[in-house]
This record gives sequence, C-alpha cells and structure tokens, in this order.
Amino acid sequence: MRVLLVGGGGREHALALGLAGDPAVEALVAAPGNPGIAAVAQLREVTPTDPAAVAALAVEVAADLVVVGPEAPLVAGVADAVRAKGIAVFGPSAEAARLEGSKTFAKDVMTAAAVPTARAYTCEDAAAVARALDEFGAPYVVKDDGLAAGKGVVVTDDRAAAERHAAECGRVVIEEYLSGPEVSLFVVTDGEAAVPLLPAQDFKRVGDGDTGPNTGGMGAYAPLPWAPPNLVEDVMRDVVHPTLAELRRRGTPFAGLLYVGLAITPSGPRVIEFNARFGDPETQVVLALLETPLGGLLHAAATGTLGAHPPLRWRDGAAVTVVVAADGYPAGPRTGDVITGADRAGIIHAGTRRDADGTLRSAGGRVLCGTATGPDLAAARDAAYELVRDVELAGSHHRTDIAAAAVDGRITIPG
Ligand code: AMP
Repeated sequence: MRVLLVGGGGREHALALGLAGDPAVEALVAAPGNPGIAAVAQLREVTPTDPAAVAALAVEVAADLVVVGPEAPLVAGVADAVRAKGIAVFGPSAEAARLEGSKTFAKDVMTAAAVPTARAYTCEDAAAVARALDEFGAPYVVKDDGLAAGKGVVVTDDRAAAERHAAECGRVVIEEYLSGPEVSLFVVTDGEAAVPLLPAQDFKRVGDGDTGPNTGGMGAYAPLPWAPPNLVEDVMRDVVHPTLAELRRRGTPFAGLLYVGLAITPSGPRVIEFNARFGDPETQVVLALLETPLGGLLHAAATGTLGAHPPLRWRDGAAVTVVVAADGYPAGPRTGDVITGADRAGIIHAGTRRDADGTLRSAGGRVLCGTATGPDLAAARDAAYELVRDVELAGSHHRTDIAAAAVDGRITIPG
C-alpha cells in the first residue's frame, strides 16, 4: 500500500511512525511533513488546505490511501477532492467535518441524536450574550463558533473577560460549565462500524496545575487508570453510535476519526466537543500503545470495510508525552531558535524546521514533544521527562505535572 499523509505537526509525526511501522505500507509520502517525519517518509511540498493540489499529489504519487491529519484541510474539502479521484481517504467529507468546523452544527446534531452534552445557546449580539451568561452563571464558557484550533474557548469566572471574548468572536456558543476530569476518546469509523482507541487525557492550559490560557495541548497520557470501568462502552452506546446514525440520516456519513472530548461529570460522561481528526498530542500516546498495524486499520475505515477488521491489539503499560513550547507560547511564540538534543527516538517534531546545514530550529508554538512508554504510568512519565530534559531550546517551557495527578491517584470524579 502506498500512503500519502497530509500535514506536518506532532500528530502527523506520530501517524507517520505508525504508518511506517506497518509492513503493508510499502511507501510513505508526507506533505508537507516536518524534519522528524523526514526520517521515515519522503517529503513533498503542498498547501494542505488546497483540495485540488492535494488530490493531484495523491494521483502523482499513486497513493492507495490518503490520510489527512489536521482539521483545516478536511473542512476545506480535501477528503472530497481525493475521493473524487477514486482514491481511498481517511478523513471525513467537508459536510461531515462541520462536526468540528461549527460548534452550532455539532450542538444541533447532538440535540437531534439525544447525546448528553452541556446546554448551550448560539449568540450573535451583546444582549443575547448577556442573557446566556446570566442564565448559566460562573464559571462562564464562551466558544468561538468557527474553527479556532482548540484556542477559541474561554472558561473564566471573570464576567468582563467572557463578554470581551464574545465581542471579539462575533458569533459564539455560550454553554453550561461541565465539572469533572476530561477524557479524549478517539473512534475510528467508516460511517457505520466504529472502533474505539484507548481513552487518553490531555492538558489544555499552558501552566502547571491547569493555570494560564488554553493551548493546543501541553501533554497527554494513556490509558486512564481512574476511568470508570464501562466508560468506553457507555460512550460508544450513548454518544458515538447515535451521532454516526444521525449523520447517516442526514446523508452526510462521517468516515474517519471521530474525536470525542468528554467531561466525566457526577451525572456521567458529557460531550465537551467533537473533532473530526486525531487530537494532538493525545495521538502520540495512543499510537505508541497500538500494536495493530495502523495502515490496515485506517485503510479499512477509508474503504467501508471496518466491520471485517480484526479486534485491536494494545501493548501493555502506559504512554506519556510532554510538549516543549517556544518562548512566548501561546500568546506570541518566538521562532527560529536553535534546538539540540532532538534527533532521537521518542522526540516527536511538531513545529521544527531544518537549515541546509542540518541545524534544527523552532518553527511554531508547540515545537516538539518527548513521548515514552513504560510498564506503568509512573515509568512512562519518568521516561518522557528524561527525553525532554535532554532537549535544549532557548526560552522554551513545558509543564512539569503531565500525568502527575493520575500517577498519584489524585483524580476523582466529583459527585
Ligand atoms: P473545546 O475547544 O470545546 O475543547 O474547549 C477547550 C477546553 O475548554 C476544553 O478542553 C475544556 O477544558 C474547556 N471547556 C470547554 N467547554 C467546557 C464546558 N462546557 N465546561 C467546562 N469546560 C469546558
């Protein structure tokens, strides 16, 4: 199987490692890729959000499967353009990707499918915003309605800050605050059959103890020793299958990766958000534990044959990833700094570039992450931090408490 992987962040580096490790994948091309991905794939230039360009590249490299990593190309219709060339693609149509591209659309689908989620209003003016904030009270949850790469959400006790964010975004979704630990559940689906991966937890706030602004994600771990035993089964029954059925009913089946972001509240799991692609950095830990060959799994989802795919096999133990972010991230990351100690197994590249002379430099906010597995969460955590300690990048910062509460048994479900 010849595979074209679209994207160039940490998620795509993790996907590239998984695909390259699948004996059925005889050639792997990544576009645009990054210096980490270059070790396992041939890199090609492309604008990932240009459907015609990606489809043309898929034809040129004779791809049997195109795997689309990020959300923006999916929302732009890249999967549709590739499918129109008769090439199998892992990733939903633009219509189905609205599950991520529009918070209002996602709420509408959830309501129709009776999926448990926060009550919410879509607001377009200050009066509607004020009414919704009054009704729900603090903490206030205000979400940009469009794609914001996980950064368009403000959760705050500060009423003025909530109103300011709403005014800056224009159209927002204001919703009830959900309390409880968060879970990311990835589900591979061909639109009908659905296979859950291991649940993971990520860390959205920039600072230790969940302080500071939201980011794209500062670290992750899997599996979740504290998760309720029936969590995955319950979410498949109450969330995933009803959502997939509703999208089929609307004539826009969702095939690809359905990312279910949940809060485990006292009344049970509630959906915080859907995404239409693998999450970053949870992908790094989930795929580190997946033993089943990745290319075959994604190909089955892309060709409507997932129902016949054998059950997934997982490695024992746990995985942890710790993100190293650039100086100034998330507000205004500085790029162009020299990185050393990053060319080793376990370092996943996210925002890096390489000079002609081989020097590695930062090229984004989240620069790289140290990903390690171990016989248990504590061992995986130690190993991930060891990787990060050996990386040098001026001004960089990382959280020091990734997976710490889970290791110490400090995560509880309120109630
Ligand atoms: P989202 O982009 O919707 O995932 O939101 C980003 C982050 O904001 C989530 O991971 C949560 O930490 C937080 N968040 C979003 N919606 C809610 C909510 N209704 N209640 C509590 N926290 C939320």
